[in-house]
Amino acid sequence: MLHAVFPPECLNCGAHVDSDFAICGSCWAETPFILGAACDLCGTGLPGQSAEGERLVCDECHRIARPWAAGRAVMAYDGVGRKLVLGLKHGDRAEVARAAGPWLARAGADLLAGAPVLVPIPLHWRRLAQRRFNQSALLVQAMGRVTGAEVAPQALVRARATPSQDGRDRDARFRNLSDAIRPHPKYGAILAGRPVVLVDDVMTSGATFAAATEACRGAGATEIRVIALARVGMDT
Ligand SMILES: [Zn+2]
Ligand SMILES: [Zn+2]
Repeated sequence: MLHAVFPPECLNCGAHVDSDFAICGSCWAETPFILGAACDLCGTGLPGQSAEGERLVCDECHRIARPWAAGRAVMAYDGVGRKLVLGLKHGDRAEVARAAGPWLARAGADLLAGAPVLVPIPLHWRRLAQRRFNQSALLVQAMGRVTGAEVAPQALVRARATPSQDGRDRDARFRNLSDAIRPHPKYGAILAGRPVVLVDDVMTSGATFAAATEACRGAGATEIRVIALARVGMDT
């Protein structure tokens, strides 16, 4: 009934599509989904094929120690991928998170061993008040809905507001975030003795995931894994 009045439209271009919260075939083809070989720590796409059981690590993750155990990304932060992420973050396009649920579930399938709890990267309350929603929490809910994994939207908090990461070099990004993320004094208890999958919209330097990983470890999580909707490549 609803579709007769509002036929579903592609999230990117508005073309007719068969189901809600989808992108059309041509936008799909232009979206830089990471479907082939990828770094097992940050999810960045790598050339060539991955052999069965082989662990791939990109140059950047060789240089920067990653405190988490495994990582994935749905797409590169480029072209349509970048547009979708910016729409989710700044443009009130919450429906992008719904579309991303199945994408995260597929890209993160390997991260779901051992019944982990899905946890979003928290926003500081002041930024949350400005933006009215945490895009990472929307992604966690969408991924939880598709996978059936338990979600803990409030397990982590921003202990202090951090200035924007934009324009900072890598070391400054890590300094800026250190100690900024903590387990929630009450809701953080869910992390004890469990594997955790941290979810964020974008991974750039990895500083945010690193800070959140330390917070999860402090709360007693057994193994921390990460997934981003979009991975910013080193040359973008
Ligand atoms: Zn389209
Ligand atoms: Zn990597």
